[in-house]
Amino acid sequence: MSPYPITIDHAEGAMLVDLDGNRYVDLGNDYAVAMSGHSNAVIADAIKAQFDHGLGFGGRSKHETRLAEILQARFPSVERLRFCNSGTEANLYAFLLARAATNRSLFVMIDGGYHGGALSKAMSDDRFFAPFDVITVPYNDVAALEAVFEKHGPQIACFAMELMLNSGGCIVCDEGFAQAAQRLCAKHESILLVDEVMTSRLHVGGLQAHYGIKPDLTTLGKMIGGGFTIGAFGGRADLMRLFDQTQQGAIAHNGSFNNNVMSMIAGYVALTQILTAERIDTANALGDGLRKQLNALCAKHKAPLVWSGQGSVLALHLGTTEPKRFNPPPLSAEIRALFHAHMLDQGFWIAGRGMLALSVETQRAHIDGFADCVERFLVEQSEVLG
Ligand code: PMP
Repeated sequence: MSPYPITIDHAEGAMLVDLDGNRYVDLGNDYAVAMSGHSNAVIADAIKAQFDHGLGFGGRSKHETRLAEILQARFPSVERLRFCNSGTEANLYAFLLARAATNRSLFVMIDGGYHGGALSKAMSDDRFFAPFDVITVPYNDVAALEAVFEKHGPQIACFAMELMLNSGGCIVCDEGFAQAAQRLCAKHESILLVDEVMTSRLHVGGLQAHYGIKPDLTTLGKMIGGGFTIGAFGGRADLMRLFDQTQQGAIAHNGSFNNNVMSMIAGYVALTQILTAERIDTANALGDGLRKQLNALCAKHKAPLVWSGQGSVLALHLGTTEPKRFNPPPLSAEIRALFHAHMLDQGFWIAGRGMLALSVETQRAHIDGFADCVERFLVEQSEVLG
């Protein structure tokens, strides 16, 4: 990590500690995974208690049933679901399912959308992205989406979208775009796949509840495993039935760790005892307050910077208005590196691209300290910022 490498020694609650003993307020939280905070005592106790009773059984367990029931209660569109080990895996299976169910091969995705490394068109050379036929549309552009469906409707297996563009810059979805996605997929009998790997932290029922839409398939990951490795995908029962191995032509979904007991227990404890609707709202309110505070500071110092995002997730951009789609003027490598180094130096850990994801351990004092630190940056670097 530039300008000097940092190796983390351990984490506790809202803090990270490096090998030299430097302490950082963690506002990145393992790219949003650690929403319960680090080594939350309730999760740790449940894991320790299970440790003497087996880590994986190679068979169905009550632990996966309990976690599945909680997720189904939170996401009514998910009539059936299956567990896997990451958000990437969940999306891979959902993509395969969409293709198999529709007998079509074309995927529509968002410019700057992210569904896992192997599924990232933007990050992969086209030669390696060949398995999927993809058309991308700009986020929040209803006319562009309509035009693609108009032209290619009968070939479109799936429209995959995030209800807040995460890796693409924490960009908020317009209500009308979410509704258009639902309407166009229904009209053309294409699968609407909503990737809630990130956004399940923003509302107890995910952003699909917030926008009032009912996807055909949903993918989940990150915080639903209470910090342990996890992914899940599910949706309409008639689609998920294609994984039924007793049927001819079924899609295989095998995996040694697919229902590993630690993830199932940690996820269940996290969702039932820590990441409740109330605490999700509290984290969102802190994040919304911080975004407002930071944008007011940028305006006060006439800095060409703006913070985007929703609730407990924030991201820094160049510009003066929150971007509506991917490819806002990018934060220059120089400013990004300077900002990141400044934050580390002052004891704040954020994702290198200028992204923050708060946890239930994030306190107002952390937020206020971060805002002070941002203001110092704006003053000290005013020449670089121009
Ligand atoms: N989808 C979205 C929206 C994500 O943000 C991510 C991870 N950043 C993924 C999928 C991939 O999840 P994982 O890293 O667990 O493979």
